[in-house]
Amino acid sequence: MRWPHFPRPRPAAIVDTHARDRARMVAEQLEARGIRDPELLRAFGAVERHRFVEGDEPYGDHALPVGSGQTISQPYVVAIMTTAARPPEGWNGANVLEVGTGSGYQAALLGELGARLTTIERHEALATTARQRLEDAGYADDRIEVVVGDGTQGWSAHAPYRSILVTAGAPSVPGPLLEQLDRSGGRLVMPVGDRERQILTVVVREGDGLTTTELEPVVFVPLIGEHGHRAE
Ligand code: SAM
Repeated sequence: MRWPHFPRPRPAAIVDTHARDRARMVAEQLEARGIRDPELLRAFGAVERHRFVEGDEPYGDHALPVGSGQTISQPYVVAIMTTAARPPEGWNGANVLEVGTGSGYQAALLGELGARLTTIERHEALATTARQRLEDAGYADDRIEVVVGDGTQGWSAHAPYRSILVTAGAPSVPGPLLEQLDRSGGRLVMPVGDRERQILTVVVREGDGLTTTELEPVVFVPLIGEHGHRAE
């Protein structure tokens, strides 16, 4: 017997809503605030943020929960961090470390930009979910590896890195991360400060020399580990 055919709700209509919200996010939260890099704007327009974050407003102009008591920053802060961390030769093929996988959204953006990424998360549950989300979103090729551990130690197996993004705040930049930075212009971006507030800080390495620049005040969850804050 053939079952009668009932048309299913059109998923395209749902996709269109997210695509429209994403386009608005790019225009109003990023371009309007001075983010100009066309490659980065394209990546923000392509990565489906709603696959990675929780809550009713995945494209909202605010931080959002990602599980295990952690949050992800608003898109604009993700954009200024990614802009500051960009290697001079561009992202394509660059060897990159992210500390603090969280939802996997920043990892997906870096994957979209063509980076070879190691991303490290201390909460195994978050790492497992992020790995699955990255796979579901089509970023599960051999260029993105999600690992579990204390990211204040870095991930020496894949060093040196052209770029290191630390997406949690600590009183100072962990020494092992500076050691794992490429000696010819490797860039590290992280929030430096106390648990309540930090300054987004950029460090560029040339040989044994480090140049530090401070960008703007931010509020990130704490970087917990041997070279960061203690767990409470
Ligand atoms: N980049 C993430 C995203 O795209 O969703 C947001 C990260 S959230 C602001 C910070 C993350 O850093 C949390 O998931 C937290 O568990 C993680 N974290 C804190 N200390 C860590 C450490 N020592 N090593 C690895 N991950 C750490």
